[in-house]
Formats: sequence, structure tokens, C-alpha cells
Amino acid sequence: MSDDYLTVIPTDPWWQPAEEAAERAAAVVAALLPDRDGGGEQEVTWHDTVEVVTCGQNLERIRCPGCGADLSMRWWGREVTLRQEEGFTTLGTAPPCCGVETSLNDLVYDWPCGFARFEIDVLCPERGPLSARELARVAEALGHPVRQILSRF
Ligand SMILES: [Zn+2]
Repeated sequence: MSDDYLTVIPTDPWWQPAEEAAERAAAVVAALLPDRDGGGEQEVTWHDTVEVVTCGQNLERIRCPGCGADLSMRWWGREVTLRQEEGFTTLGTAPPCCGVETSLNDLVYDWPCGFARFEIDVLCPERGPLSARELARVAEALGHPVRQILSRF
């Protein structure tokens, strides 16, 4: 058995909302979920340092934003570990394919992944991805653009 999650994070990995804005955004997300007895299992989390938000088993490939080459999971894992050891003060990276200066946050993840110090997680959302319009509503409540991660673990 695996669990599906719908996670919403700010597009800026270091950005954190005030508590009020976080509550507003969480309420918007909750209202977009199907009605369930006892409410969905939703969690709002602040992290002291940036954390990797992966899509788990949904991660099929990672590509370079510069030249489009496939990046190996091994290279990616090593880069993430290195930045993690530095406390994620930077996400800067240069893929081996073309050496373009980019960020681990800006690699082309299929499905999307991200990095964040704040996240709204829904366990078993029982619905498909949020539409662009729905994401815009969450972003407006949060006061910052957002990215959604659909993960399976
Ligand atoms: Zn490249």
C-alpha cells in the first residue's frame, strides 16, 4: 500500500508566511477538497531550514533546464546531500551535461518536486491536481506564488 499526498509550497524555497496567512491558505486548500467525514488529514508545517519536497515514486526523470539532457538520480542525490550538509544556504548547482548555472529548485522535475521551508500537506486528497485557477486562489491567500507537488510514498 502506498499513500498519496498533495503538497503546496511557496515557489521561493526560503519564504515563510505569517501564521495568519498560512491559516488562510490552508482553509482555501481544505475548501478545494471533496467533503469527507471528519475532514481530511491536512497538515501545515514550518521548517527551520529548507527541506526537499519530492514526489516520491512519482519522480520519473529530472532534466537540465539549460540543454534538456536527462540528469541521473545519482548525480541529483549527491547534489542534494552536498547542499543539505551546507544547511541549504544555497541551492545553486551546475549540471554535468552543459554546466549551466542553475538551482536545484529550477531543474525540470517530472513530476514536479521542490524545496521549501513551509508546506501544506494533504494526505489522500481524493482528487486530481489543483487547477491553475485553484492554485492562484491558494497563492492569493498565502500572499506568495505556490507550486504543487503530487507525491506517492
Ligand atoms: Zn545541460
